[in-house]
Amino acid sequence: MSDLSRCDVAVVGAGPAGATAAYLLARHGYNVRLIDKRHFPRPKLCAGLLTWKTMELISAIFGPCTDELTKKRIITHACRDYRIFRGPKEIARGCLDFPFHFVDRPAYDHHWLQMAQAMGAQTLTGRAVTAVDADSGAIDLADGSRLQAGLIIGADGAWSKVRQALPQAQKVELQYRRNLAATIETHCAHTPGRSGAPYASLHFGFIPWGYAWSFPGAEKQTLGVAALVSRGASSLSDAFREFLRTAHIGPEALDTWKGYALPYGNYLSQPGYKHVMLIGDACGLADPLLGEGIYYAHRSGELAAQAVIMAGQRPDMALKIYRQALNRHVLSELRWINVFRTLLFIGGKRRRYRGLKLFFRLFPKRLEACVHGQRSFSRLLVP
Ligand SMILES: Cc1cc2nc3c(=O)[nH]c(=O)nc-3n(C[C@H](O)[C@H](O)[C@H](O)COP(=O)(O)OP(=O)(O)OC[C@H]3O[C@@H](n4cnc5c(N)ncnc54)[C@H](O)[C@@H]3O)c2cc1C
Repeated sequence: MSDLSRCDVAVVGAGPAGATAAYLLARHGYNVRLIDKRHFPRPKLCAGLLTWKTMELISAIFGPCTDELTKKRIITHACRDYRIFRGPKEIARGCLDFPFHFVDRPAYDHHWLQMAQAMGAQTLTGRAVTAVDADSGAIDLADGSRLQAGLIIGADGAWSKVRQALPQAQKVELQYRRNLAATIETHCAHTPGRSGAPYASLHFGFIPWGYAWSFPGAEKQTLGVAALVSRGASSLSDAFREFLRTAHIGPEALDTWKGYALPYGNYLSQPGYKHVMLIGDACGLADPLLGEGIYYAHRSGELAAQAVIMAGQRPDMALKIYRQALNRHVLSELRWINVFRTLLFIGGKRRRYRGLKLFFRLFPKRLEACVHGQRSFSRLLVP
């Protein structure tokens, strides 16, 4: 086996989670392989909304970057105005103190991959991982080659091969899929007669345990819907049609619809096994209310890298350190969001979302701060 087939850490998946972990570990002198089955820039279905906490985090990890991302047109748009609807009826509107930023996901992910590469991570793109041995650290690639890693970080998204290679995979998959959402997303290009709403809007009441969205953009409007598969996402396309009808958007104005899985409350409390750690979507780390996952991808990538660095000569300690940090910094908040989500969605589609209306009437700024991550959902009711 040549030296090229050995590394300290193999990161499988080069989305925001994997690129962050690889960047930080390479910066610390680790011999890192960042492997992805796609060549970059690769397509990624995502509305590309970044909250305040994401903007803060990426600047903390990679250095101040808002200007660069804007100059490179990776950040394509920013918007402060938002509205909340129940069916056709507007129930709240507001203006954010800090704007939502929207990114072009293929370009965004490519940027972080290049950052990891520039820091010294060896990237293997267009190379799918086909099998992982969680006990020995051996990784098989589709081209027949094999890599031997001291530690493996699984950042390979919702259908993670790494997660499926862990012991008790069947049980874990059941737990993971119980809280998986299905999504549909498409775009509506601006035309001289139609430029779309200039605000971001969330639409409840079209589907149980989910919502639809409409986000503005410089050249196009992004429209989508997400809902828990186990609670009725089978009617997702009907719900999306109804939403589009209500928004007076005809099918002729739209790009082809696409769908993908979205973690929606399926965060794993045991994020790995022995020398394997799971991060990002592979670990179910998206917010169970709005499905925000980019922040949690970067954050878990950061926590996993820090755990490896802290474990030092004791790589067997990395998972324990990572699990504790994940619990403290990520899962505790996701659990609170889950409580809020249950209060919001329980009762199904017929629910009238009066609570949401009331929350927005009583303390809109607190809710905005919770969504942006400037305040924890645990303090929603605390003045
Ligand atoms: C419709 C939709 C809209 C969304 N909108 C938003 C939003 O507006 N804001 C937000 O914060 N989040 C949003 N999300 C969630 C967000 O996209 C994810 O949470 C985020 O991409 C997770 O990042 P990741 O790095 O964990 O995984 P990914 O970005 O999915 O990256 C995983 C990588 O692993 C690679 N891979 C997979 N299998 C293998 C294999 N076998 N071998 C090698 N490589 C492999 C893939 O090619 C991919 O590059 C949305 C999701 C969906 C579906």
